[in-house]
Amino acid sequence: MIASTDTIAAIATPPGRGGVGIVRVSGSLASVIAERVLGRTPPARRADYLPFRAPDGSVLDQGIALFFQNPHSFTGEDVLELQAHGGPVVLDMLLETVVAHGARLARPGEFSQRAFLNDKLDLAQAEAVADLIESGSREAARSALRSLQGEFSRRVHSLVERLIALRMYVESAIDFPDEEIDFLAEGDVSAHLRAIADAVGEVQAAARQGRLLREGMTVVLAGRPNAGKSSLLNALAGQESAIVTEIPGTTRDILREQIDIDGMPLHVIDTAGLRDSADRIEQEGIRRAWAAIEKADRVLLVVDDRLGIEAEERAILDKLPDGLPVTVVCNKVDLSGRDVGEGSDALGAEVRVCARTGEGIELLRSHLKRVMGYEQAGEGAFMARRRHLEALGAATEHLQHAASRLEEGAGELVAEELRLAQQHLSEITGEFTSDDLLGRIFESFCIGK
Ligand code: GDP
Ligand code: ZN
Repeated sequence: MIASTDTIAAIATPPGRGGVGIVRVSGSLASVIAERVLGRTPPARRADYLPFRAPDGSVLDQGIALFFQNPHSFTGEDVLELQAHGGPVVLDMLLETVVAHGARLARPGEFSQRAFLNDKLDLAQAEAVADLIESGSREAARSALRSLQGEFSRRVHSLVERLIALRMYVESAIDFPDEEIDFLAEGDVSAHLRAIADAVGEVQAAARQGRLLREGMTVVLAGRPNAGKSSLLNALAGQESAIVTEIPGTTRDILREQIDIDGMPLHVIDTAGLRDSADRIEQEGIRRAWAAIEKADRVLLVVDDRLGIEAEERAILDKLPDGLPVTVVCNKVDLSGRDVGEGSDALGAEVRVCARTGEGIELLRSHLKRVMGYEQAGEGAFMARRRHLEALGAATEHLQHAASRLEEGAGELVAEELRLAQQHLSEITGEFTSDDLLGRIFESFCIGK
C-alpha cells in the first residue's frame, strides 16, 4: 500500500437537502478524527450511532458512523463515513470540523484516484465508477456496472497475456538466429497473431457499443419551416424519454436537445435556431452548434413528402459539411398518400413517416440504430470511453504491422510491434499511463467520489 501522509475529506452526497448526508474521510488521520468527533473509533465495518461533536465539544448532529480499516476500504486507506442529517448547513459544519482536526478538502475524484493508486481498482474500473454515476439510461448504467465489476479489464488482461506469450515465443526465435526463419515461418506465429487480432476486434466491438451508450450520436436536424422537425423530434423522443434541453456543465442551450433511443443518447442540433443573431449569448450558442455540426454523425433532413426535395433543401445541405451522411425523412405521408417505409434516395437513405400519428417512427429509430452500429444494448457492452477505443485501435494497428513484418521474416520488428500493441492495451487498465493522463481523468470526476 502507498502511504499517503494527508487525509482528505468531502461531502459525498449531492448538494441540497436530503434525508441523509454523508461526509467521507480517507487517510491516516481517519481514526484520530473519529476519536475527536465521536469520542471513539467505531468498530471496523459496524454501524455506530453517536453524537457528532464540533471542535468546541458542542453536539452538531447525531447519526451513524462507519469506520473501514485499511486496506479493507474503497480507497485502501482508513476511511471514516459520517452519515448525518442531509442539510447543507449541518454537512458544512461537519466538514469544517473534520478539516479543523487535520483533514484537507478532497479534489474531484481524489477518493477514486487513491483507490487506483492503492490497487483497489484499475483505471478502467475507476472510470466506470464515474460513468455509473453519470449514466443517462438503464442500459448505460448496466454496462458501466459490468466495467466496474471488472469484465472489461478481464478481457483486456487476457489479451495482454496472450500477447506476452506470443512475444516470448518470437523473442526466443530471435535468440537463435540460425533457426529464426523456420521458427517464424512455422505458421503458428501467424495463426496466433490472427487469433489475437480477432479477439481484439471483438473487444473493440463491445467497447464501441459502450461508447455509443455513453456518448451517443449527434444528428443535425434540418429542413424548411413547417416540414415537421419539432413534431418528428417529439415522436422520436417517445413517452418514456422526455426531451432534455440541458447540456451538462453548460448553460441551457436552445439549439441542442437530447433524446434517447433504446438507451442510446441522440444529440439533436436543430438548425432552425441557426439564424443570424446580434445577441452575444445567442451568437456563442450558434458558434458552438456549428462546432458540433462539424463533428456530427448524420443529417436528418425532414421534407414534406408532398413537395419532396427542392432547391430549398439543397441550399440547406450546401451549408452543412461535405460528406456528412444524410437520412431524408419524408414526413406527412398521411397527406402525400405514400406508405411508410424505407428506401434510398440520390442523397442517401430515405425513411417515410408520419410524425403526427407516429407511423414509421419505429422504422426511423431502428434505421438510426443500424446506421450507427448500435445493437440493442446487449449483455456484451462495456462502458467505454474514447480513450479505450483509441488504445484498442492503436493495438490493432500494431498487430497489423506485426503481421506484415512477419511476412518479411523480420523477427525483431515483429517483436517490437507486439510490444507496442501490448503497451497500448495496458493503457486501458492503467498499468501504463502517464501521470498527466491520470490527472486529467480523475479531474473530471465529482467531488467526494
Ligand atoms: P417544423 O417547423 O419543421 O418544426 O414543423 P412542425 O413540427 O412545427 O410542424 C409544422 C406543422 O405540420 C404543424 O401544424 C404540425 O402539426 C404539422 N405536421 C407535422 N407532421 C405532420 C404529419 O406527419 N402529418 C400532418 N398531417 N401534419 C404534420
Ligand atoms: Zn503505438
